[in-house]
Amino acid sequence: MIKQAITLSLCLLSILSLQAQKEMCITIDDLPAVTYGKNEQKHLLEITNALIQTFDQYQIPAIGYVNERKLYMDGQVDEKRIALLELWLENGYEIGNHTFSHPSYDRVSFEEFTKDILKGEKITRPLVKKYNQELRFFRHPYLRIGNTIERHDSLVQFLAKHHYTEAPVSIDNEDYLFAKAYFVAYKKGDQELMQKIGEDYVQYMENKVAYFEQSADSLFQRPIKQILLLHANLINAHYLDELAEMYQKKGYRFISQADAIEDPAYQSKIYGQGYGPWGISWLDRWALSRGKKGTFFKDDPRTPEYIQELAR
Ligand SMILES: [Zn+2]
Repeated sequence: MIKQAITLSLCLLSILSLQAQKEMCITIDDLPAVTYGKNEQKHLLEITNALIQTFDQYQIPAIGYVNERKLYMDGQVDEKRIALLELWLENGYEIGNHTFSHPSYDRVSFEEFTKDILKGEKITRPLVKKYNQELRFFRHPYLRIGNTIERHDSLVQFLAKHHYTEAPVSIDNEDYLFAKAYFVAYKKGDQELMQKIGEDYVQYMENKVAYFEQSADSLFQRPIKQILLLHANLINAHYLDELAEMYQKKGYRFISQADAIEDPAYQSKIYGQGYGPWGISWLDRWALSRGKKGTFFKDDPRTPEYIQELAR
């Protein structure tokens, strides 16, 4: 009886410790911010400060991916926009390259795309130096990595030559649709609708993480270090704390980009159907590479119809 009780508690302990080992890196794209045309500095500052405050509060070693085109106003470098990136760096958060103008690698030539990558580091490379950091990660716009293995390989080689590592995503989602819908409600001053969208957003993201956990389990028979993609927008400024709370309740601790890609899962090869004209989670790419079909993806949570409608 005692032996059974000990075995049971050991078992519970190992389940608990397994839960405690869940790890997630939070990455924020399209810095300094996605504004939907509301370009007052005050608004961009509100978004930036709220995100940073939540990183501090929940000990999230976040990374933000910059589009340098957004540092220009009327063709001139806008120092106020650069100051927003400095807020990230001053507070100890990393930034990475997300190209200058956010092109899709599927729609432009290799030459054009790589030129845009280098144009996208003109300001940020010296800026991170000032904070004794390195510019070392690259995030593909629209998660388009190249639609053939050859296109992808040449990109990876180019990145390595310029001291970049690719930043994959395991938890892809449509936060940008919720963000657009939320902004529409915000502009109307409709607090009630904003709150409804916010609550549905947190629920949707909870379903997403469960779905990609299940995906990782069936592909790797273990939890992987998850990498979440979010954007620097108002809904995340207002709800990242609730998201962080939810992830913590699910047993996650937050880790850096460098730590996350140490997971050997990210060395998995993408091949065959893993390549195509689409921007998807790396988990989906690995699943497609292994010949997984429709049923494998059937539980992927969908964005509610009313959000899609509002975001149109
Ligand atoms: Zn982006």
